[in-house]
Amino acid sequence: MAKSKATVRVRFAPSPTGYPHLGNIRTALFNWLFARHNDGTFILRIEDTDVARLVEGATDMILDSLRWLGLDWDEGPYFQSQRLEIYRGVADQLVEEELAYLCYCSPQRLESMRQEQMKRKQPPGYDRHCRHLTREQRAETEASGVTPVVRFKSPFEGQTSFHDLIRGEIVFENSTLDDFVLLKSDGYPTYHLANIVDDHLMEISHVLRADEWLSSTPRHVLLYQALGWQPPQFAHLPMILGPDRAKLSKRHGATAIDEYRDQGYLPQAMVNFLALLGWSLDDKTEFLSRQEIVKHFSLDRVSKTAAVFNRDKLDWMNGVYLRGLSLEEFSQRAISFLERDLPSEVERLLDANYIHQIVPLIQERAKTLAEVPQLTEFFFVEKLEYDVDLLLGRIEGAEAVGALQASLAKLEGLQNWDAASLEAVLRPLADELNLKTGVFFGLLRVAVTGRTAAPPLFQTMDVLGRERCLQRLRVALDKLCSRLDR
Ligand code: GLU
Repeated sequence: MAKSKATVRVRFAPSPTGYPHLGNIRTALFNWLFARHNDGTFILRIEDTDVARLVEGATDMILDSLRWLGLDWDEGPYFQSQRLEIYRGVADQLVEEELAYLCYCSPQRLESMRQEQMKRKQPPGYDRHCRHLTREQRAETEASGVTPVVRFKSPFEGQTSFHDLIRGEIVFENSTLDDFVLLKSDGYPTYHLANIVDDHLMEISHVLRADEWLSSTPRHVLLYQALGWQPPQFAHLPMILGPDRAKLSKRHGATAIDEYRDQGYLPQAMVNFLALLGWSLDDKTEFLSRQEIVKHFSLDRVSKTAAVFNRDKLDWMNGVYLRGLSLEEFSQRAISFLERDLPSEVERLLDANYIHQIVPLIQERAKTLAEVPQLTEFFFVEKLEYDVDLLLGRIEGAEAVGALQASLAKLEGLQNWDAASLEAVLRPLADELNLKTGVFFGLLRVAVTGRTAAPPLFQTMDVLGRERCLQRLRVALDKLCSRLDR
C-alpha cells in the first residue's frame, strides 16, 4: 500500500484552445485531489500542439483559474510545443521499426475519399493507401516534394482492451480504428502521440480525464504496446450534463471558470460543488472542507453515471459559504465588488468602516458577492431613484403624507440615532397613526431605501445616519405632495 501511495503521479493536461470551463476544472480538481490524497505529485502540462486552434491568453487563464481554486501543482507547467524533438524522435523510431509509416496523401485526396465514404455510408477513416506503397512508389512520391505525415499501423482485426478504474473492462474492436496520424506535416505531433509520450516520460501513474477521451484510449494502448511501454492506469470521469440532461454547455451557464469568480462565487464553495460533480462521500453529505475532501477522496466513490450541473445548488452552497465568512473576510471580499459595480457617481475609495456596518445587514441574504452592490446601493448613492407609486403600495396618499410628517416631527427631535432608539419612537407611532406596523414600516422603508425589500429597517436607518434619513423622508414627502397636488 505504502508503495503505491508514494508513486501516484497524475497530470492535468489542458489544451489552450479555449478558456477553461467547469468540466476542465473538474478534471483538474479530481487529479489534484487524487494526488493530494495519495501524497502523490500533481503535474501541469499544457498540450499546445494544435497550433491552428490555440487561443491567445488561454494558458494564463488556465493558470489563474487553478491558482484561484488553490489547485497548486508540483511540476510544470510543461509545454508540449517545447518538446517537439522528443515526439519526432519517437515517430521516427516507429517508422524505423515499421510500426508506423509515411503518408503522402494530399488533403484533396483525403477529402474525396471522405466524400466517397459518406456516399457509400461507410465509416470515415483513412483507407491506408500509403501503408501499402512499394519502395519505388515511395521514392517517386518523395521526389514530388510533398511533406508526409506519419501514420500508425493499426491492427486490422482483433480487440484492444484495458481496465478502466471507474468504468471497468473496456473492449474495442480494432477494425473500428484507422491508421491515425502521429506526426502532422507541420512537424507537430498529434494529441495521441504527444500525450502518450509525455505520460510515459513523465512517469504518469494514473490518467484521470473526461469521458470524451475514452474512445482515444485504445489508440493509446496500441501505441504503448508498439513502443513496449507500460501504460498508466486509466480512469475516465463521468460526463457533466445540464439540468435538461444535455451535455453541459454555455447555455446552462457553464461559462469559463473566471466568470464564476467575477460573479462572486467563493473558491471554497466552487471546490466543494465541483467535487460533488461525480464524486460523493456518502449519499447525503453536501458540505465538506477542502481538507475533508482530500482525506476521503477515492476513485471508488466516483460515479459511473453522468453528473448533473445544478446552478441553483451552486448558488445555495455559495450562500452558505458566504454566511460562514467572518465579518472581516466578507467585507474584504465584498469591497472589490462594490468598487467594481457601484454606480460611478459613488466616490471611491469606499470607506471600510462604513462597509463594516453594512455587511452584517446583508450577509445573510447574498448568494454571490456580485449581488452585494445591488443589495446595498442605497447606502452609497446620494439620490434615490424610485417611483412615487412604490410609496403608495399599501397605503393611501393622504395617510402616507400624514405618516411621513409625523415621523419627521419625531425623528428630528430624536436624541440618539441608533436602532433601538429609532424603534422606540417609531413602533408606538404606528399605533398613534392607527396604522399596521407592516404598512407604516413599509412606507418608511421605501422612503429611506427606495425599495420594498431591504435589510431590517431600524438597523438600516441607524447605518444610513440621521441626515441622510431625514433628507430622504423629506424627499419622499415632497414626491407624495406633488403627486397629490396634481
Ligand atoms: N489535451 C487534452 C485535453 O484538452 C488532454 C486529454 C487527456 O487528459 O489525455 O483535455
